[in-house]
Amino acid sequence: MHPFKVLIAEDKVKERVSKMGAEISKYYQDRKTKKLVVIGVLKGSFVFLADLVRSLNVPCEIEFVEVSSYGAGTMSSGDIQLLRDIAVPLEGQDVLVVEDIIDTGRTIYYLLEHLRKSHRPHSIAVAALLYKPSRSVNQIKPDFLGFTIEDKFVIGYGLDFNNRFREIPDVAIYEEGKVSIDL
Ligand code: 5GP
Ligand code: MG
Repeated sequence: MHPFKVLIAEDKVKERVSKMGAEISKYYQDRKTKKLVVIGVLKGSFVFLADLVRSLNVPCEIEFVEVSSYGAGTMSSGDIQLLRDIAVPLEGQDVLVVEDIIDTGRTIYYLLEHLRKSHRPHSIAVAALLYKPSRSVNQIKPDFLGFTIEDKFVIGYGLDFNNRFREIPDVAIYEEGKVSIDL
């Protein structure tokens, strides 16, 4: 158990993610994609990606990129750095970028530009578990979305505060002072 207020309980998350898997499978089946490359954005997407790929019924390969846009705390620095790039060719492939959350939209914008320019895939789509439309600076919406949420800093199901709380199975609202942590 954890002391935080649950925003989306584990079973609701699982249920939605499995429906997203079905939607995504149908989309790529209809496009007659030979192979799909699923790209997880580390670290926050790892739990979502693990559940999502297990509910796909189209063949896929899995790769990861790592970006950093948050220093310590709950405010995005806006200064995005690519810490780990894709090392396999994506030219001609269908790519699905898997993100934990789209907040201002700056990270996903940066990543989509980077992937298009440097890796030239055949297509790119985005699956995000969470989306905060009130914070968007560029109106980028995910092609496949789990839940729209209000402007609250959330943790759990892979999402962290200062690298903590990723293992919490629910999506919960982070509140300072509930747990003492070493920063
Ligand atoms: P954006 O560039 O869209 O503002 O932010 C995207 C990244 O910021 C996400 O991939 C995520 O790592 C982090 N982020 C944004 N909002 C939240 C939040 O409410 N909780 C957590 N833990 N991370 C967030
Ligand atoms: Mg992230």
